Amino acid sequence: MTKMPKRSFVWDAHAGLFPSPEMNLKILEHWLKDNVNYLSVNVGFDVMSRDETLATLAAYRRWLLAHTDQFLLAEKLSDIDLARSTGRLAISFDIEGMNALGGDINMVEIYHTLGVRQMLFAYNLNNAAAGGCHDADIPLTQFGIEILAEMNRVGIMVDASHTGYKTSMDLIDRSGSPVVFSHSNPTSVWKHQRNITDEQIQACAARGGVVGLNGLAIFAGDNDSSSETLLRHLFRLIDIAGPAHVGLGFDYTPDVSVDIGSILRARPDYWPAGQQYDTVNIGHSGPSKIPDLVNGMQARGMSEEEIRGILGENFARVARESWV
Ligand SMILES: [Zn+2]
Repeated sequence: MTKMPKRSFVWDAHAGLFPSPEMNLKILEHWLKDNVNYLSVNVGFDVMSRDETLATLAAYRRWLLAHTDQFLLAEKLSDIDLARSTGRLAISFDIEGMNALGGDINMVEIYHTLGVRQMLFAYNLNNAAAGGCHDADIPLTQFGIEILAEMNRVGIMVDASHTGYKTSMDLIDRSGSPVVFSHSNPTSVWKHQRNITDEQIQACAARGGVVGLNGLAIFAGDNDSSSETLLRHLFRLIDIAGPAHVGLGFDYTPDVSVDIGSILRARPDYWPAGQQYDTVNIGHSGPSKIPDLVNGMQARGMSEEEIRGILGENFARVARESWV
């Protein structure tokens, strides 16, 4: 059996927090406790305006800069190494959907300056840039094509989660750096519009990208948050993409008192009927599941190098190629 080092490098490509300036970021201690080294924290999604996204970003920056004993706002990969060597959690931000630009491409560089290192193009519904996974299947618009070039130029990781099929394939085809699905599970294990087909997974991997395993129980099965089911998704991703193109993006909300379902039911346009969003008490797997995942991978005979890749080094490789 593979022997793992005591502490492997762990990259969680997406937190599932509901972005708000009022959010108490003490919640991020959950990731520290579970030995995560880097976390991408979402500061906006298409339901929010540019103003609300900027207000959230400002509040999160101020809080993190006041808590540098535990957290480090990472601008480059060496910052993540520094955080790791000093026992802190490295954090940068992501934005889910281009409504945060307010129609202005100049905002891409501003967001980069403020610590955003990953952006996806459309959150479930179509917007001015791209197509979402719960809407008519469209490729990137001209505005979307221009945004992609600007993201490649300033150094923001290109994320295709939440987008529709044509937009995701368009992104993979056109991007100058590898494209990731930061938090998406395979449709071939559980049929859901938020999940992605084997063809999308293969295309992502063929261009050097990584797919992050999602822990939300309605994307894994019938509100199924068991380790066994999570491992089925992980192994399927590994079988399709290869072990160098799979990572973790748990989409995790640690506060179990939050009823995710009630938030989702409040906006049926973004979270449409028939997609299990009306499930009461949606379950959730987060980074506390990592030991189970490692055990499963070891039992499957995977090498230490492969497991290290999945826990963090694969996403770090894409960051090295994207964060210019
Ligand atoms: Zn998401």
